Amino acid sequence: MAKRTILLTGASGSMGGEAFLELQRRSDSVKTRLLLRPSKVNKKQFAPYDGKNGVEIVWGDLTNENDVKRAVEGVDVVLHPAAMISPEADRYPAAARKINVGGTLNIIAAIKAQPGGAENIPLVYVGSVAQYGDRLPPHEWINVGDPLKPSVHDYYALTKMEAETAVIESGLKYWASMRQTFIAIPNTLSLLDPILFHQPLDQRIELITSRDAGYGLVQTIDAPEEFWGNVYNMSGGPSCRVTYIDYMETVFSMLGLGNHTQLFDRNWFALQNFHCGYYQDSHVLDSHLGHFRDSLEDQLKQLNDSFPRWMRLGGSICPKPLIKAYMKRMAEPLQWIHEGDDAYVDAFFGSRAAWEAIPSWDGAPIKGAGSEAPAGSPVVRPEDTDLAGVMAFAAARGGTCTAQSYADPTQKLNWTCGAGHRFEASPNLLMGAGYWCPTCTPSVEDTSGWSYPSHSVHDPLLASFL
Ligand SMILES: [Zn+2]
Repeated sequence: MAKRTILLTGASGSMGGEAFLELQRRSDSVKTRLLLRPSKVNKKQFAPYDGKNGVEIVWGDLTNENDVKRAVEGVDVVLHPAAMISPEADRYPAAARKINVGGTLNIIAAIKAQPGGAENIPLVYVGSVAQYGDRLPPHEWINVGDPLKPSVHDYYALTKMEAETAVIESGLKYWASMRQTFIAIPNTLSLLDPILFHQPLDQRIELITSRDAGYGLVQTIDAPEEFWGNVYNMSGGPSCRVTYIDYMETVFSMLGLGNHTQLFDRNWFALQNFHCGYYQDSHVLDSHLGHFRDSLEDQLKQLNDSFPRWMRLGGSICPKPLIKAYMKRMAEPLQWIHEGDDAYVDAFFGSRAAWEAIPSWDGAPIKGAGSEAPAGSPVVRPEDTDLAGVMAFAAARGGTCTAQSYADPTQKLNWTCGAGHRFEASPNLLMGAGYWCPTCTPSVEDTSGWSYPSHSVHDPLLASFL
């Protein structure tokens, strides 16, 4: 049998890098094509693989239509984890949109330009848990189909949503989107980032190791027919669930840095407006891909093994106040408070008064782990419903649908939102993936949709998640 050719974008990223290694392990049965920017770093890292072991590198740019066409020419499957990620994406929203949305549109167009491409070439897109926005208790259980409400100032999530919409509505026969959770890479230094403090201490996380993320992505090339045409939540599964405070406590003591209460003050951490949560339906993707391999303990071990000995020694003998002073400089939320950056203070704390009311570590306990998954899913899947179900969905979102009949979840219908905006969308996109009125939804070009409390007045389903 002829070897299939797999195009992989983003091999220089954490998920893409592991996917590349996994494809290399399968070089007996597949050829690997990479689309990589010809940067100095990429050339140094990847040029040695070119032409060996079935690897072919297309040096080019996702934002360049012709480069993408060259990359897609003659391939059997496209795996597309490439993206500009946070914090760069939030700093440069226009550039992020060009890469994350424009790049995905270029891939869809290139697949369609191939003979029989739209009917035969599968596209696997990688979405993000950031699309769900803030899912703090009691809303910590996430299902595909829940309303999307990316956090305020999270431009990265907006680009992932716009690109995912294009994939869902592309008309390709074989597509899938996997909304990736926090990928825990085995690199301790990556934890020392201001993003450490953007996260509320009671946030729930269902992480995945980069190893399992890459493995899962490659497993899609042999996925069964029923896998395609769906959005999934991707994580390492129930054994990877942890509260942020517990995770931090474990990691910092494991590294010999001592107790977290000696390293941070409680009011350096945001109270809201981040993302992550527990994926109630993550087992669905695992039933297709079998990527639930590493547990939280495995991840911690990978992290522990990555920690240089000299640093562990340094951490254990360095006076805690010195480490604390170093950490404090990284605590961006504290800077927003001190600089009076009201837009950020309001988004991440609710108000200055709410920040002032944060107790010390000895104060009211942080909501720890121990929440149990609710029984059954609240989401009605578009493939399992009828016209009455579609109407009920529109009403739940405070709107209406003009459909007279309903047979195919990919067929676009006409809808009106509670604010009176008319739009066209498939039940797959709305019921199956959590989208709603494009005018009311925040986008890079119009972020007024970020005012969720005002939109929730005419959107009861959204209101139930605030
Ligand atoms: Zn609207």
